[in-house]
Amino acid sequence: MPVPLTELTRQHAALESELRAAFEEVSTSGQLILGPHVRRFEKELAAACGVQHAVGVSSGNDAILLALLALGIGPGDEVITTSLAYLHLAESIARVGATPVFADIHPRTFNLDPETLPGKITDKTRAILPTHIFGLPADLDPIQKVAAEHGLKVIEDCDMAIGAGYRGRVVGSIGDVATLSFYPTKNLAALGDAGAVLTNDASLADRLRRGRVHGLEKNFLVRDLGGAFRLDGLQAAFLSVKLPHLAGWTQRRRELAERYNKLLGPLPLTTPFESEDYEHVYNQYVVRVRSGGREPLRLHLDALGVGSRVYYPRPLHLQPCFEPLGYHPGSLPVAEKASSELLALPIFPEMTREEQDEVVDAVRDFFLGD
Ligand SMILES: *Cc1c(COP(=O)(O)O)cnc(C)c1O
Repeated sequence: MPVPLTELTRQHAALESELRAAFEEVSTSGQLILGPHVRRFEKELAAACGVQHAVGVSSGNDAILLALLALGIGPGDEVITTSLAYLHLAESIARVGATPVFADIHPRTFNLDPETLPGKITDKTRAILPTHIFGLPADLDPIQKVAAEHGLKVIEDCDMAIGAGYRGRVVGSIGDVATLSFYPTKNLAALGDAGAVLTNDASLADRLRRGRVHGLEKNFLVRDLGGAFRLDGLQAAFLSVKLPHLAGWTQRRRELAERYNKLLGPLPLTTPFESEDYEHVYNQYVVRVRSGGREPLRLHLDALGVGSRVYYPRPLHLQPCFEPLGYHPGSLPVAEKASSELLALPIFPEMTREEQDEVVDAVRDFFLGD
């Protein structure tokens, strides 16, 4: 039985009549971009994330770009970020004309390691941009402390971590501003591209709202350039259908992860980091396989039809596009090692026990033979 890494058709089948009704409502309203469905979703999202303002945008990528623009970060500025992440963090920093400064990760959590921050701060540093990798919150208290000491902004990238908990708080409500993606692989998935920016700062929220429409103010006036980062009414209406289910889906992901931990724990691999301080939402269930075992395991699972994926095969500081920044192999050893040893296994709320058993058997078979 093949098992996909993730899939949405079961979720959509279960919600079919509500999704169709949302489509009818938007299509007959004629208000297709921004408008009332976006405003409604923004209110619901802000409440769910424990923040004052949510601003719907066109993707998680555009959320980061817009947040950086709205904070006034640009040429001459430096932003510290993690090297083990999707492209959009470092890319957006570079796109606004600032310089990404890559910090190494913690070897057990794979999140930006706060201990490395002091060595990265210069008089050009303006912000710290951690992600909550795989759905596990970054260690925000020490990050916030360093930021406060140096007058830096903290931008939380919550793409993989909507609803995750850090010491009793919800991610996205802790830093100065936070970004979300509703890309179809995320825990709250649109039926296409969508994203959002969260903040408790009303004047920043105004800049974000203007910035997603080119920075336009009344009478075709533009003081600060933005871009075309608008959210569609249709995606917002679909997301409003799905948002009430998110907590239940997250609970299901956590149960699946707990069962994986139990069944895979005895094997020679490392299961994800767990701690009472963190509520992981398992956008990805990622194991670490040492001693060159990752690629053979990946091929073994592939041959059995079990989905898996490498997040991320190349740390960002070693991308050719960032070569001018002067990093080289060995610059960030923890991130480099992790990128050769991590493998994501199938996890999604609708996954059956039989499917999970199939994954576990395939992994067990790789290490122990049958
Ligand atoms: C989050 C994510 C993206 C990007 O989504 P955006 O909304 O465009 O930022 C792309 N690919 C994968 C695998 C992702 O997890």
